[in-house]
Amino acid sequence: MTVRAPRPDTHRVVALCGGVGGAKLALGLARVLGEDLTVIVNTGDDFEHLGLMISPDIDTVLYTLSGLADKERGWGRADESWEFMRALGPLGGETWFQLGDRDLALHVLRTQQLRSGRSLTDVVGDIARRLGIAATILPMSDDPIRTMVETDEGTLPFQRYFVERRCGPAVRAIRFDGALEAAMSAAVRAALAAPDLRAIVVCPSNPFLSVDPILAVPDLRRLVEASQAPVVAVSPIIGGKAVKGPTAKIMAELDVPTTSRAIADHYRGLLDALVIDETDAAERDLPGVSTKVAPTLMQSDADRERLAGTVLAFADEIAAIGSRS
Ligand code: GDP
Repeated sequence: MTVRAPRPDTHRVVALCGGVGGAKLALGLARVLGEDLTVIVNTGDDFEHLGLMISPDIDTVLYTLSGLADKERGWGRADESWEFMRALGPLGGETWFQLGDRDLALHVLRTQQLRSGRSLTDVVGDIARRLGIAATILPMSDDPIRTMVETDEGTLPFQRYFVERRCGPAVRAIRFDGALEAAMSAAVRAALAAPDLRAIVVCPSNPFLSVDPILAVPDLRRLVEASQAPVVAVSPIIGGKAVKGPTAKIMAELDVPTTSRAIADHYRGLLDALVIDETDAAERDLPGVSTKVAPTLMQSDADRERLAGTVLAFADEIAAIGSRS
């Protein structure tokens, strides 16, 4: 149990975030916190495709926080057109990964700027400012860390597993190539070690594919664990199911029950608290973490903002009690 001294002037919040599920809560937090929010985003899904550097989770966060995202599809830009893809196929180009015409502008610009020697952190910071985003959006590292999915059909790079194979092959293990050699950026370190940190929020992203790669950045997990700020996660599991995506399928394949208790177990030692859905109220007594039962399904922006408020209020409660198990 850590007994914390009172920290009245804390205001900054760091969120750890993957793509679509995480970005929903990141948007709620951004609406409540504005520039007091820093979002550290998974780059384990990044890859080079057609000569372009693609950062799918970063782009989902950029588009979501700037209001440009296609809410139905969950990824890419709204009002997208697909002329590039239509032209690409007949030329013999690979079409398994969809790149919208407007979306392409971001990939081309990022690729050009990275090739000119700028860091991903700088490039993303610049684009976020130009899109009018008040929050700070940080890649988890400027060095390449690549999520590799070991399946019953062999090892697949993340996008081949997720997009091309539509998460079909059964997952045996997940590894993060390059993590041991990667460095934490100065910006990520400063955000996590900020003396005025109010809370660290683990968004309801896929723990295995979106949050674990962030925690695999050397020293990052230790900084979160050592933080004086409360660490609060929102469970991505509602009523024994994932809201979207392969989280539940992967949990089953890894022999992990699809429960919020299993999410708490997965993050053991990291979290002070877990917000679980009201559907799962029966799971509220979890060993090692405080729980808050709340509606966690984010269908509207009002839901996103409400859940963000719940998470922050819960973090403040935890900070006031000053206990960590
Ligand atoms: P991806 O990288 O695009 O797959 O997205 P994330 O990893 O950030 O999010 C995927 C997870 O978000 C899934 O496990 C979903 O269950 C979860 N998720 C999506 N929408 C919601 C929601 O409204 N509430 C909660 N609690 N979880 C959600």
